[in-house]
Amino acid sequence: MSTLPRWTGHFTRQRRLIQLAFLAVFALLPLFDLFRFDLPAGRLHVFGSEIWLDEWTYLWLALMFAMWLIGALSLILGRVYCAYACPQMVFSELAHDCDALAKRLLRGKDPKLQKQVARVLSHGAILLMSIVASILFMGYFAPLPQVIDRVVHLDVKLWLGAVGAATTLLAYLDLAFVREDFCRSACPYGLLQGILEDGRSLHVRYSEETGPCIDCKLCVRRCPMEIDIRNGSFQMECTRCGTCIDACDEILAKKNRPGLLAFDFSGLSWRGWDLKRSLVALSTLSFGVILAVALAHRDTLALQLAPLQSDVAPGKAVAESHFLLRAANRGREPVTLAVHTEGLPADAVIQGLPTQPVAAGQEERWTLVVQIPETPGRKGLQSFTWVIDSPRGAERFPGAVLTRGKGA
Ligand code: SF4
Ligand code: SF4
Repeated sequence: MSTLPRWTGHFTRQRRLIQLAFLAVFALLPLFDLFRFDLPAGRLHVFGSEIWLDEWTYLWLALMFAMWLIGALSLILGRVYCAYACPQMVFSELAHDCDALAKRLLRGKDPKLQKQVARVLSHGAILLMSIVASILFMGYFAPLPQVIDRVVHLDVKLWLGAVGAATTLLAYLDLAFVREDFCRSACPYGLLQGILEDGRSLHVRYSEETGPCIDCKLCVRRCPMEIDIRNGSFQMECTRCGTCIDACDEILAKKNRPGLLAFDFSGLSWRGWDLKRSLVALSTLSFGVILAVALAHRDTLALQLAPLQSDVAPGKAVAESHFLLRAANRGREPVTLAVHTEGLPADAVIQGLPTQPVAAGQEERWTLVVQIPETPGRKGLQSFTWVIDSPRGAERFPGAVLTRGKGA
């Protein structure tokens, strides 16, 4: 069986294989917690670190770094992310493969019937692909095995079911009717990448050094972005997919001539390396190092202790204050807390102290109660100090109980 149309040509085949590798990465990133938002738990997983949503600085740094990285890549390689890694483009091309396969399966049949049945087959395959794409996408917001298990058992809780259905519908409409039109005219990220490239970025060069163009326009007809690269190498829509190069090689090979289009890597050589590239490379490296160091040294234990209420009801022989202790263990090991006080009278009673360690990845809350017997000589605010011992040392928090000095 001959090759599918979108799998012909050296650069095209190479690119489609790279796309499949990125698709595998796209599926595996959340599976191994390398990048995943766990919405039910309110956590972002980044390469083994579990960032809680209240750690907004790390969240912001991680997302900014991802954007910065793709921006820096655009300066050097142009809009390659679109052609080689973007799931929108990968799935769009797979949708074209579905069309071609469906037509091929029905080759030789009645043309009218062939057209109709091929359309049904193709849409069926695209629907199936949309469900897979939706499951992979949902895996970025809830654990993937859980998502698959729920889908298989048709056990979808409201938000998971609603979001999954909406994503599947959107993916189906996109892959069935929009495809590369989105990349051409609507994707803001694609346009941003197009703006970031410059005259030294990787590009497709058109040259008639080996002979004139025969104006067959095969390069234009095959270009997924519908541009004529002969009009200029640096067109914002060009994703450096290489399809036009394969097309020109193919057509001119029939005339025993080399193609007129080729990738130009000259800007990537040391001679093409300029101050702007050096600064971008340096800042990207620094940004990466800062993020890695910040994540490695981030505080995995968050302790908060705040007063809740002070009971001053008349007629009671005991003054009582309530405090809320909150401990968030963002690390991978359980943490044991030992809480005591300094500066309280000897007859004070403390209740509600932690008795169990805080499990890894969990947050615990305790209501601590301090009771001081009222005596005639004891009046006013009785200040004291909470001391919390944890693996990172002793931490002190101020506390106070209001006494009225009217006890028995
Ligand atoms: S001009 Fe060539 S490299 Fe650029 S998008 Fe079109 S086919 Fe791909
Ligand atoms: S495929 Fe080659 S020969 Fe044909 S129009 Fe494009 S550049 Fe010219």
